[in-house]
Amino acid sequence: DIILDLKHVSKTYRTGGWRRRRVTHAVSDVSLSLPVGGTLGIVGESGSGKSTLARCIVRLLKTDLGSIDFQGVDLAKLGKRDQRTHTRDVQMVFQDPYGSLNPRKRVGELVAQGPIVHGVPREQALARARELFELVGLDPQSLHRYPHEFSGGQRQRVGLARALALGPKILVADEPVSALDVSVQAQVLDLLARLRVQLGLSLLFITHDLRVAAQICDRIAVMKDGKVVEAGTVAEVFGSP
Ligand code: ADP
Ligand code: ADP
Repeated sequence: DIILDLKHVSKTYRTGGWRRRRVTHAVSDVSLSLPVGGTLGIVGESGSGKSTLARCIVRLLKTDLGSIDFQGVDLAKLGKRDQRTHTRDVQMVFQDPYGSLNPRKRVGELVAQGPIVHGVPREQALARARELFELVGLDPQSLHRYPHEFSGGQRQRVGLARALALGPKILVADEPVSALDVSVQAQVLDLLARLRVQLGLSLLFITHDLRVAAQICDRIAVMKDGKVVEAGTVAEVFGSP
């Protein structure tokens, strides 16, 4: 079963005024699919279009061409109500969760925020935040702390707790360990792998680092200049040892 199916997706950025118009074909004719419970790595150098693709999948951006089907439904054809469901079902984890965590809010509030917006009573959402902290290996005592009081690895765990708070079906992780020390990278990757199995998540894992992708992904799509230039199992893409 396929949970996410991209067909011929293209996205172009147009920047500059009428005098110096620049057109960047960030994503060109990308087709790929993610099976339910699968792990697909999108690997490519900086500027190859990975983040743009991720932003289209979580609907932070609109595609120009092609279709993105989530559970058989084209994202472009979602009604208001289904858009909310999509927000819940497809969550994103960022490279630097600090950038996406409001520094003036306690992390407990940040983790509870999504569920509260989606109508979960405050007390219940905060209780759920406590459970999530335990799930990602953080001390629930630290729920009242602020983002800057955490180390990079811990902050990534907060980012994960926040992404998991709405009970998503897919996690789109955009360079989730790239800003971390190598030893901490392994811990966060292990956690991600464990949570994926435990919660039955499907994972789209974006990275410039083939080594990291090979550690966590079943299948890999290699992007270059906005196009998928190679795709297959980790063994196929790396060549058998
Ligand atoms: P990656 O995530 O692989 O580094 P991106 O999707 O960020 O790649 O970028 C793909 C291309 O699109 C790059 O050439 C980048 O400069 C360009 N780009 C990305 N975001 C924007 C934007 N908001 N406006 C204009 N160009 C952009
Ligand atoms: P990434 O490659 O991980 O997306 P970048 O540092 O390339 O990170 O981009 C950071 C931000 O700047 C993103 O929001 C991206 O959309 C935007 N951006 C990237 N390239 C361009 C560009 N050429 N013009 C305008 N905005 C850009």
